[in-house]
Amino acid sequence: MIVASPKSVTEVKEIIAAHRKVLFVGCGTCVTVCLAGGEREVGIMAYAVRMARKLEGRPIEIEQVTIERQCENEFIKDLAEAVDRNEAILSFGCGAGVQAIAERFPKKPVYAALNTQFLGILEEQGVWTEKCQACGDCMLADFGGICPVTRCAKQLLNGPCGGSTPEHCEIDNDMPCAWQLIFKRLKEIGQEDRLKKIRPPKDWRGSSHGGTRKIVRNDHRI
Ligand code: SF4
Ligand code: SF4
Repeated sequence: MIVASPKSVTEVKEIIAAHRKVLFVGCGTCVTVCLAGGEREVGIMAYAVRMARKLEGRPIEIEQVTIERQCENEFIKDLAEAVDRNEAILSFGCGAGVQAIAERFPKKPVYAALNTQFLGILEEQGVWTEKCQACGDCMLADFGGICPVTRCAKQLLNGPCGGSTPEHCEIDNDMPCAWQLIFKRLKEIGQEDRLKKIRPPKDWRGSSHGGTRKIVRNDHRI
């Protein structure tokens, strides 16, 4: 899932300082699961901002709504009436959701309430870790399902590096060495031979270094 973290109340207050009526929009998918931008977080932020503005003598009206997905027009279109009633929109979606809303309502200011962080998973209660950088050319098959692009601090495709230990990565003592994990996993599944192959430099053209990426699936177009 997409993992995001909330901006602070101070920052959000600053972002919407110019407005007196703001629509706070939560998203019911990834950012709800990672406890950053769902109905509950929208409610908490709305309460805090209302209180702060009241204490400053500049009260604000906040309308709250949470839609199933902010990255799909099918759900965004239901916001139209609420958008009309407000001066601006504060989106609690990921960066894609914020931009989808801004495209749908070009005449309203649209702001981001979250910092979108990475593609990852819940590791344990309250801890999320990155698992994929969406590089566009997935090599997990060769690495036992462990991604060196994301999880090796040096992004080595022919690891490990000289500083690796079974306990941790040389760059970060709190992080296991991805290459130790890859080797262990390939051994467990009887595929260590995959590591005999020297991998050529990665082709990064499918990554994000050349501007916006796009997928066109003609088999799905109408
Ligand atoms: S190889 Fe690329 S697509 Fe596959 S998990 Fe790693 S970053 Fe993601
Ligand atoms: S110690 Fe392991 S994870 Fe860290 S940089 Fe070296 S090979 Fe990569």
